[in-house]
Amino acid sequence: MKTRAPVCKICRREDTKLFLKGQRCVTAKCAIDKGRPAPSGNSRYSSPNSTYRLQLREKEKTRSFYGVLERQFRRYFAMAQKSGQAPGEKLLIFLERRLDNTLVVAGLLPSRRSARQLISSGHIRVNGRRMSIPSYLVDNGDEVDFRSASRVLPKLKEMILAGGVVKQCPAWLNLDKEAVKIKVLREPSRSEVSVLVEEGHIVNLYSR
Ligand code: SF4
Repeated sequence: MKTRAPVCKICRREDTKLFLKGQRCVTAKCAIDKGRPAPSGNSRYSSPNSTYRLQLREKEKTRSFYGVLERQFRRYFAMAQKSGQAPGEKLLIFLERRLDNTLVVAGLLPSRRSARQLISSGHIRVNGRRMSIPSYLVDNGDEVDFRSASRVLPKLKEMILAGGVVKQCPAWLNLDKEAVKIKVLREPSRSEVSVLVEEGHIVNLYSR
């Protein structure tokens, strides 16, 4: 997702850590940890506590966290509505299954942004085949790894060695650190979704 706003400003606006800058987010340089206030001119709505504003902020927070455009986000929501399951929960599960997110939550890469760049540049494989679509939804049994030619690139090697900001691979994934390979064991559950959000607000926003 291309954003014009400096990324820390997005976190400050949502008043929460969205982990958009990789390793920097877990250092003392984080703007949220430093207690920097939300940017001025933030109040676009007459009442800062209005229900609409709350719903909108929850949606924007989720969209920014996963780096998804509004159009794509609505598409995930439409898929979730058709799934026959609770739409808010299913929406988050779809987002969590994105290939760029999978590389981050497994602890291999520091940010969804860097994961998207590597995927788009053709460094990542799914089931042995190059996959250049960051929004690819990983499925049970999928194996995700780096192309062998990519793994020896100094910059990438350094990034893999440094690892991500997530230190504990979730139970829906298996990380083989030696082979630098992720295996998808099952779909993530709601409790394993990485963004802290109340999805009911998003459902209510789109149901208006
Ligand atoms: Fe957000 Fe990371 Fe910036 Fe902290 S350092 S404000 S978590 S992007």
